[in-house]
Amino acid sequence: TATDPRAVLSAGVTVPLADGRVVGYAALDYAASAPVLSRVWDEVARYAPSYGSVHRGAGQLSRLSTELFERSRATVAGFLGLRPTDRLLFTRSTTDSLNLLAAALPAGTRVLVFETEHHAALLPWAHHGHRVDYLATPDDPAAAVRAVEEALADGPVGPTLLCVTGASNVTGELWPVRELAAAAHRHGARIVLDAAQLVPHRPVDVRAWDVDWVAFSGHKLYAPFGAGVLAGRADWLDAAPPYLAGGGATRVVSREAGAAVRVVWADGETRHEAGSPNVIGALAVAAACRALTEGEGYRALVAHERALLGRLRAGLAELPRVRELSLFGPAAERVAVVSFTVAGWDSAEFARALADRYGIGVRSGMFCAQPLVRRLLGADGPADDCGGPLQAVRVSFGAGTPAEHVERLLAAVAELTGGRAG
Ligand code: PMP
Repeated sequence: TATDPRAVLSAGVTVPLADGRVVGYAALDYAASAPVLSRVWDEVARYAPSYGSVHRGAGQLSRLSTELFERSRATVAGFLGLRPTDRLLFTRSTTDSLNLLAAALPAGTRVLVFETEHHAALLPWAHHGHRVDYLATPDDPAAAVRAVEEALADGPVGPTLLCVTGASNVTGELWPVRELAAAAHRHGARIVLDAAQLVPHRPVDVRAWDVDWVAFSGHKLYAPFGAGVLAGRADWLDAAPPYLAGGGATRVVSREAGAAVRVVWADGETRHEAGSPNVIGALAVAAACRALTEGEGYRALVAHERALLGRLRAGLAELPRVRELSLFGPAAERVAVVSFTVAGWDSAEFARALADRYGIGVRSGMFCAQPLVRRLLGADGPADDCGGPLQAVRVSFGAGTPAEHVERLLAAVAELTGGRAG
């Protein structure tokens, strides 16, 4: 049982190095998937032996699972600060959530999205047939708000949605969510927040920030894989056809001879949750939400991350061959995500060397945000899918990260790049 609320399952994992030594694994890729908090895992393990089918069986375990599933929904709704009339849907992931919303938008919706968004926030809208206006990359947060004001200056002629990311998965930089929501609403548009990289580091308050929808993934929030969330305004979701057609999303299904099957779809959350719900996933997300809000919660996490982030960035800045990527400038407020390039190194090979020689797990590549990475690297034109120079190395961390992991990374980068300046 976890006594340290920040303990993660990967804490004791060891990995073999290329030279045969075995070392403790330094997980520094939280932005892709965070390690599971031990207390989240404990909660899942406590419940796992008695799980049953949600909303389906009459047995005690099925009833218990239904209750826990709905209680998890209420926990996450509280965590996000939803309005009482909002819906909260359990999905598979942020990608799934944003595709669900894209499929539910009223016909003729105009979508505004910055060209530099993560692909999960960039691509679903056109994919589902909506008109998309791609906004040029801003140089600072205020310019982002101005770009939205300008795009909406004539007022929306129909339903309009702005999709923005709360924290960049490449630079960690925070976007001005409240100001963007206010700008959208001033002009009659709505806003969906991609909080995939924000909720693992900062509390989100849907009502106070006045955002219409929010999406995030459990596996980046210290829960195991399997569940994500889409939450927000009920009206467009309730009016839309179900995201998936199938059992659970229906009230009546009938057929008269020779006619097509007639369906009366369910209302409420179940309308978009066809199929057997992922009760373990929902329970894990709710447990993670509680872990981040109970006790010291986010306050301790933010302080911990700020200290390590300061050390990491200062250490990297001393290395002459390393260049940190930033859109809004080095002083911008950011979460514990840092990307950089290393002169003379291919990013993938560099990341591989960190793993093979030091037991450090980071990510290299374009982080599913190709237009942004291309812009940050100052490279125009299409990316080389196989890598090439248009890539960076990303370090990201959080609750379970000890200072030793950051120190090991800095020492490794210094060694691989030939040392510090001066
Ligand atoms: N948005 C952002 C900002 C992300 O960082 C990610 C994951 N890299 C996603 C969306 C997609 O999340 P998932 O892969 O869990 O669907």
